[in-house]
Amino acid sequence: MSPDEFRRHAHAMVDWMADYLADVGTRRVVPDVRPGDVRRRLPGAAPEAGEPFERLFADFRDVIVPGMTHWNHPGWFAYFPANASPPSILAEMLVSTLGAQCMSWQTSPAATELEQVAMQWLRDLLGLDAGFTGVIQDTSSTATLVALLTARERATAHAAGAVGLRDAGAPALTVYASTEAHSSVPKGVKLAGYGLEQLRLIGVDDAYAMRPDLLERALADDAAAGRRPACVVATLGTTSSTAVDPLRPIGDLCRRYGAWLHVDASYAGAAGLLPECRWMFDGMELADSFVMNPHKWLLVNFDCSAYFVRDVDATLRTFQTSPEYLRTAYDPEVANFRDWGVQLGRRFRALKLWFVLRSYGAEGLRTMLRAHIALAAEFRRRVEAEPDFEVVAPSPLGLVCFRHRPAGMDHPAALDEHNRALLAEVNRDGSVHLTHTSLGGHYVLRLAVGQWQTGREDVERAWSLIRRASAY
Ligand SMILES: *Cc1c(COP(=O)(O)O)cnc(C)c1O
Repeated sequence: MSPDEFRRHAHAMVDWMADYLADVGTRRVVPDVRPGDVRRRLPGAAPEAGEPFERLFADFRDVIVPGMTHWNHPGWFAYFPANASPPSILAEMLVSTLGAQCMSWQTSPAATELEQVAMQWLRDLLGLDAGFTGVIQDTSSTATLVALLTARERATAHAAGAVGLRDAGAPALTVYASTEAHSSVPKGVKLAGYGLEQLRLIGVDDAYAMRPDLLERALADDAAAGRRPACVVATLGTTSSTAVDPLRPIGDLCRRYGAWLHVDASYAGAAGLLPECRWMFDGMELADSFVMNPHKWLLVNFDCSAYFVRDVDATLRTFQTSPEYLRTAYDPEVANFRDWGVQLGRRFRALKLWFVLRSYGAEGLRTMLRAHIALAAEFRRRVEAEPDFEVVAPSPLGLVCFRHRPAGMDHPAALDEHNRALLAEVNRDGSVHLTHTSLGGHYVLRLAVGQWQTGREDVERAWSLIRRASAY
C-alpha cells in the first residue's frame, strides 16, 4: 500500500470511526449471533493473491462489526466498563503508526520517559504518595502476577538460609485474599508457583469486605505452623459488588507478619481522583503495590493497567536478566521497563494515557466519575423505592447489585431462576446489557454505570426494561 493509498483509506476509515462513535447507541449492544455464525462466513484459507483494501473494509463492516459486542455502547451496564474515548483512540492510531517496541529506554527513549511522566501525573492525581513508582502493565491480572512474584522473591530472600523455593526445609509461602477477590488472584498464585493450596480465602463481613479478625487468625495459624505469610491482596472495589477491604487494619497485620500488601483497585482506583472517595485509600502508606486500570473507568482504551510499587529493587531482582544482545550503554542510568514485568516487548501505552489526561484534564475526568456515581445512586434509589425489588450490597461507586423479589416467592432456587429469566428478558431487547453475579449464594443482577457516553436516559431505559420484565 503506497502512502497515498494509505492516506485515502485512512480518511475513509476515520469517517467510519466517527460515525460509529456517534451512532453506536442505535446498534444492539450484544449481537444476535450464535457460535459459528461469523466463522461460517469467512473463507477457510488465506488468499493467494492480495485483495483490494475496499474489499477487506467491506467485510469488516458487513461481517465482523455485526458480530461484535459493543463495549462503547451507552447502554453498556455489564461487568465493568472498558472505555475507548476519542483521544485514546487517536493515540492508538499514532502508536501503531510509530510501531515502537518499548522494551528498553534506548528502543524508545521518549516512550520510556513519557511513561515515567504520565504515571507520576496519575500517581499524584490519585493521591498516592511519592514512595510509589509507576509502570504500565497490560492488564491488572499481569500486575497482580508481578506483585505476587515480587512478594515471593522478597519472602524467599528473607527466609533464613533459603536460596530457592525448592530447598528442602524452606518454609511454605502463603498468600491471603478475601473470598470476594478477583479470579486473577488464584490464577497469579498458581502461576507464581506458590501452589493453590497455599492461598487462604478470608471470609467477608455483611458488606462483602475482608474481615481483618479472620485474616489475623489465618496469619497466626500459618506462622505458628512454620509457614511464611508472603503476600496479602486487598481489594478496593470487588468485581462482584465493589466491596472495599479495610486497608489500614489489613496493612497493620501485613507489617506485623512481614507480608507484602498488594492492593487490587482495578476498577475503583479511578475514584481516587475524587477527594470524596479517598476514604477507600486510608492506610495506603502500608501498601507495597497498587494496581488500577485506566482501561476500565478512566477513558483509556484497552489495554492499560497502572501498577505502582515501592520496592523497585525487589522488582528488578525478580524480573531482571541482562543478555548481551539487549545491553546498551545507558543501562546504568535509565529505566528499562522490560525488567519491571513479565514480557520483554512492550507496547507504547503511555501515549494514550497522556492524551486522555491532557484532553479531559483532571477536572473533566472528575466530572465524568461524579456523573456516573450520581446516576448509580439515582438508580439505587429507584430500586429501593420498589417493594418487590431489593438492593443487596452497598454501592459506593458506579455499581448497583439488586434482585427482584416478588411477594410470595421465597424459595432461594426459585428466586435465582426468576432473576436469571428476568436478566435474559432485559438483555433480549438489545438496547442495554447487564450481567449477573453471586452474592451470599444468591443470583443477583449488576448494573455498572461507567461507559463514557452513558447518560440519564440510558439508565432510565434500563430501569424501565427491568420493570417491564419483572411484570411478567
Ligand atoms: C477487572 C478486574 C480485574 C482484572 O482486570 P484485567 O485488567 O482484565 O486483568 C482484577 N481485579 C478486579 C477487582 C477487577 O475488577
